[in-house]
Amino acid sequence: MKRILIIGLVLLLGACGLARTRSMDAQGADSFEGDVRAARTLTEEFWKQNFQQLGLTYRPITDFVPYSGKSGPNCGNQPAAPNNAFYCPAGHFIAYDQDWMESLWNEMGDGSVYVIIPHEFGHAVQAQLQTNFELNVQKELQADCYAGGTLSALVSSGALKAQSGDEDELLLSLDSAGDPTDDWLNPSAHGTAEQRQASFATGWRNGVGTC
Ligand SMILES: [Zn+2]
Repeated sequence: MKRILIIGLVLLLGACGLARTRSMDAQGADSFEGDVRAARTLTEEFWKQNFQQLGLTYRPITDFVPYSGKSGPNCGNQPAAPNNAFYCPAGHFIAYDQDWMESLWNEMGDGSVYVIIPHEFGHAVQAQLQTNFELNVQKELQADCYAGGTLSALVSSGALKAQSGDEDELLLSLDSAGDPTDDWLNPSAHGTAEQRQASFATGWRNGVGTC
């Protein structure tokens, strides 16, 4: 299944044909912390401008909380799960297990950070647009689509560089993006890997407006 995904994103990003280097961001942030910071800043800047164009005002998240293992902040009555990143509507914040995310960054490269963080910001946007969903999977797939649209916009603007090698990073990362309130291993929770890839691709090709 992973191989199908990788081939798909090679097709998706293959046209970029840029030289292989480690870092995806144009500023050359090569530390994990630098990539996390850049992913947050660039994603919020993107949405701020996008909301502006729609005549709306983007409300920045109130906090961006790194945690380790089980030490994460509660969301309502829900404890933070290890090995996760999540958006909490109750406090309008994003939290992430920094050890888990850093291990993905080490194993898969910085693309993992540039998918997971925009995915979670996608949920922060859904909360502001008060989008209603019948099924959780629809919410998750739209967040994947938002992540794809955010990333392609950032590549177009020159804030990020898509390079050969990023494609498998990005798609493997889709498999890893998680929320504490649902089990991402359960296909019905976040959608199948193919659905997630297709949704990410829609955003990537056509922009967040088509999500
Ligand atoms: Zn999610």
